[in-house]
Amino acid sequence: MKHSKMQLSAETMNLGFVKKVELLSGSSVRRCFQCGKCSAGCPMRSFMEHPPNRVVRLLQLGQYERVLAGRSIWYCASCETCSTRCPNKVDLAAIMDALRKLSWDAQGPSKESYVQLANRLFIENIRTYGRQYEMRLAAVFNVKSGQFLKDLMLGPKLITRGKLRMFHQKNRNIGEIEKIFSRIEEMRKNGEAP
Ligand code: SF4
Ligand code: SF4
Repeated sequence: MKHSKMQLSAETMNLGFVKKVELLSGSSVRRCFQCGKCSAGCPMRSFMEHPPNRVVRLLQLGQYERVLAGRSIWYCASCETCSTRCPNKVDLAAIMDALRKLSWDAQGPSKESYVQLANRLFIENIRTYGRQYEMRLAAVFNVKSGQFLKDLMLGPKLITRGKLRMFHQKNRNIGEIEKIFSRIEEMRKNGEAP
């Protein structure tokens, strides 16, 4: 998908997805005229297979699966340089945010993204323990990403230096934290939050 030849037709262009991105981000994708100023200033551009201006172009062409299949949206650091530089007031940083949100919901083309997996586990830990539990985060990440021995040798060093704890206690205010998560879920269900 990422590198396959692009074929444009009514079947391959998903303009409904683009509308969702525009609604969520509050920014128009169609305003972009491909000047490239966003990509020229993007500090993460060299890590992305699709530079910011190409992400917008792919959206204009309704090729959302290509965007979500890549890692560009996960390498975006939300620095807003692109939004500031754009002469057409395309808020690319907000568009990147919207894409991450939609990718998360779709759980489809980018489910192999390690960044997405790490984000998800991070949030799950906060909800379960009321704080970050690094040991669990690393262990579950390794299992779910299929990299069982990743950074294994670092563990003992971090533990002996007191940087990593084997066991964690739940935050005393876990009930309050759960209320925050439930409220966000409710707002999202009612379309009041992205
Ligand atoms: S917000 Fe993201 S895409 Fe825009 S310049 Fe910063 S890193 Fe690049
Ligand atoms: S700076 Fe704005 S108009 Fe130029 S390519 Fe980027 S998004 Fe498009």
